[in-house]
Amino acid sequence: KIRVRYAPSPTGHLHIGNARTALFNYLFARHNKGTFVIRIEDTDLKRNIADGEKSQLDNLKWLGMDWDEGPDKPGDYGPYRQSERKAIYTPLIQELVDKDLAYESYMTEEELAAQREEQKANGEAPRYVYEYEGMTAEEITAKQTEAKQKGLKPVIRIRVPQDKTYEWNDIVKGNISFKASTIGGDFVIQKRDGMPTYNFAVVVDDHLMEITHVLRGDDHVANTPKQLVVYEAFGWKAPEFGHMSLIINTETGKKLSKRDETVLQFIEQYRKLGYLPDAMFNFITLLGWSPVGEDEIYTRQEFIKMFDPKRLSKSPAAFDGKKLEWINNQYVKSAGEDEIVHSALLQLIDAGKIEANPDAQKIEWARKLISLYKHQMSYTGQIVEMADVFFENPPALTEDAKKELAEESAKTVLNLFAQKINELPLFDGVSIMAAIKEIQKETKIKGRKLYMPIRIATTREMHGPELAPSIELLGRQKVLNHLNQTLA
Ligand code: GLU
Repeated sequence: KIRVRYAPSPTGHLHIGNARTALFNYLFARHNKGTFVIRIEDTDLKRNIADGEKSQLDNLKWLGMDWDEGPDKPGDYGPYRQSERKAIYTPLIQELVDKDLAYESYMTEEELAAQREEQKANGEAPRYVYEYEGMTAEEITAKQTEAKQKGLKPVIRIRVPQDKTYEWNDIVKGNISFKASTIGGDFVIQKRDGMPTYNFAVVVDDHLMEITHVLRGDDHVANTPKQLVVYEAFGWKAPEFGHMSLIINTETGKKLSKRDETVLQFIEQYRKLGYLPDAMFNFITLLGWSPVGEDEIYTRQEFIKMFDPKRLSKSPAAFDGKKLEWINNQYVKSAGEDEIVHSALLQLIDAGKIEANPDAQKIEWARKLISLYKHQMSYTGQIVEMADVFFENPPALTEDAKKELAEESAKTVLNLFAQKINELPLFDGVSIMAAIKEIQKETKIKGRKLYMPIRIATTREMHGPELAPSIELLGRQKVLNHLNQTLA
């Protein structure tokens, strides 16, 4: 039975790259009717942020993922936070020390830094050099006892058999192998504060949690040989590994990094702008994975049905913000009216355009307004700017727009329009349209020459949603003000 996990470190909010890792594990688990586990890797206490775990989980849920076991969903393999598993790691580390597969290392940070400097100066790759080289067991014990008496705290290092090669058949990248000599010497499995390191804890947890497949980002490729050393020391069978290609920002052509400010990278940011969770899910699924065929829009269930890790791409995934907007717009257009109205209304309230807790009449007005713009929005946050004219005093006209209004026929149309608008018994789309048709009849002005001046004078824009309903939503007073200003 397939068991996979997403193992975030709560050192930050949910990033696009992490969300992708979570999502592929989720799809793989659901496709195979396996188990999806969330494990919090919080052993680096200094780097954890206060709401890191909560933000990770909330945003995964928002994206529509659920899991079978996790910190908030205890199963048979808990606890699901590494910081709560110390009692599991400590005896296992001791076991390796007892078997002389690991040992206490008292070299200080300063000594280690000096060693690296020297290696660098000699043009060698930095590595840890065994500090007890050539010593007898008694000499080693004596040296360790002395250090202990000085009050030094040790780290525990695992012995890396130097003559071996560590290799695996990566689900994504194919055969990968590392000579043990490139690992950098015996590495730390327990830090001075008694906490295990990532490379140790991850192996223990993946083994005890019976994880069958590890799908993760390609930044972990170099960690895998170290983890294989740990599997070997315990005599455990390693899971299958798959390392997903890195993500390239199409804007810069460079690897997407958290410092890159040309594109938003945290799920929360997209959520705030009114992106839809299904659209984000769809977009992220296409980051380094592709379905058979040309189509790109699928439902969650379809993705689950189709998901095959063999179609994870070896080449870098392109993060294209324009494509995300396009996909989101597809979802906005096909979403139910209620969902879009709800989302866009929150955006208008957040932006201070509509007061919080609007009354029924205001909601009805907003519903009509939002529906007018529904097909144009890439994400609902855009309503704030798109519908500016409905909230602010008339925005300034562009030069092109002014030219249109300067035409003699425009003045004729607008004068008549102002007059008719003033007299309409009912100020609704149908009556407004009827008034425009009357002007056409009376003046014989039609088409662009008729509609464009009215559009510009009322909405202050040359393009926009359907005219008559827009005018209705602006309201009679605002429309008359705009017209008077234009005609003055
Ligand atoms: N906690 C690690 C990370 O955030 C997980 C690595 C793994 O999946 O093994 O990158």
